[in-house]
Amino acid sequence: MKFDAIIIGAGAAGLFCAMEAGRRGRKVLVIEHNAQVGRKILISGGGRCNFTNRAVKPENFVSRNPHFCKSALARYTPQDFIELVKKHRIEFYEKKLGQLFCRESSHQIVEMLLAECRKATIEIRTNCTVKNISKNDLFRVETSQGNFIAESLVIATGGLSFPKIGATDFGYRIARQFDLKIVETKPALVALVAANSAASFKKLAGVSIDASVSFGKQSFRENILFTHRGLSGPAILQISNYWQKNKTVSIDLSPSADVSELLEKNSENRQNLDNFLSRILPNRFAEVFIAEQFSNKPVNQFGKTEREQIASKLNDWQIEFSGTEGYDKAEVTLGGVSTDELSSQTMECKRVKNLYFIGELVDVTGWLGGYNFQWAWSSGFAAGQVV
Ligand SMILES: Cc1cc2nc3c(=O)[nH]c(=O)nc-3n(C[C@H](O)[C@H](O)[C@H](O)COP(=O)(O)OP(=O)(O)OC[C@H]3O[C@@H](n4cnc5c(N)ncnc54)[C@H](O)[C@@H]3O)c2cc1C
Repeated sequence: MKFDAIIIGAGAAGLFCAMEAGRRGRKVLVIEHNAQVGRKILISGGGRCNFTNRAVKPENFVSRNPHFCKSALARYTPQDFIELVKKHRIEFYEKKLGQLFCRESSHQIVEMLLAECRKATIEIRTNCTVKNISKNDLFRVETSQGNFIAESLVIATGGLSFPKIGATDFGYRIARQFDLKIVETKPALVALVAANSAASFKKLAGVSIDASVSFGKQSFRENILFTHRGLSGPAILQISNYWQKNKTVSIDLSPSADVSELLEKNSENRQNLDNFLSRILPNRFAEVFIAEQFSNKPVNQFGKTEREQIASKLNDWQIEFSGTEGYDKAEVTLGGVSTDELSSQTMECKRVKNLYFIGELVDVTGWLGGYNFQWAWSSGFAAGQVV
């Protein structure tokens, strides 16, 4: 059976690319190994799919080549996707920081993509396993449901995170088969495991604090959440895209108050330190953290040097992490098919004609907040215009 284009992976990028190519009258086959398409979309955003962000900029993405994403993001913008969502009468709302979510359910986004694919007469085969891919003039894809040939082949099988819903290393294997460079992959948008102090983390599990988390030049001000093994919460997930092993992360646990000034101004205060600090920090945190780090006595009994030590612990807590919670918990995969290998206009491989890589598989990883879906739509759109 011959197609103009075969797309492997019926996730965000694959379905989007298919509907765009189909609109141009191309004969397209989408191959998905799961029984259901778009499983990651379904579980995304807590079931409400944070489908884009109003303010997408190239700076919101991590890649060896920070310029690579610009062309695709400029050609298919968040506003374009918002128009599509509106056309399908899907209600949405802005949760915070430009993040747009479905009001009802992420099912609506999958239904929308499927409706567009139906309109463009795309053939989608689920429960279909690819056994082999080869290329002469055309690509030949051997599967559990027969053999197919096509002029163009698009690999859209996503990253390694959440293997329990069907993530595989398929795309990276195909990249290797064609001798393409891969930037080392790592779990990202993921909780971090503390190198020390397991005991105090257990006691603090569940505590959430508005904090400013920094690594190198990158800083995020959002909540952090203590877990049994370390830290999670949006600010930590964001910094996990940048974090490197054996280097400390700096956390300002009181970004709205300079603790040194506060203690200085209140140096005659007779409240115990933990009670005093509970005006700027959650009670449980103040109790556990302070009791472990300092002797808990009235504020007026701390000398200047001690006050400065306390302030520095709170405004600039240096913490080392031993690792991440891994691909089982990570929202995305950092790294992937090197952008050096691809055209930023079309996502086609420079060295293998008519072979395309799109979505999370490529070395372009977005921040938390709808950026990764926008990359899936934009890169899918770019390839969809040419396959
Ligand atoms: C829990 C969770 C929540 C998330 N929430 C958000 C959010 O709210 N906003 C946001 O922007 N991003 C979110 N993300 C990230 C986002 O889901 C991904 O970045 C996005 O889905 C990537 O799109 P993709 O098409 O490249 O890959 P995917 O959507 O993962 O699609 C890949 C498809 O390929 C299929 N596949 C894999 N291997 C094979 C194979 N060998 N043969 C055939 N098919 C195969 C998979 O089954 C899948 O259907 C979330 C991720 C997770 C895990």
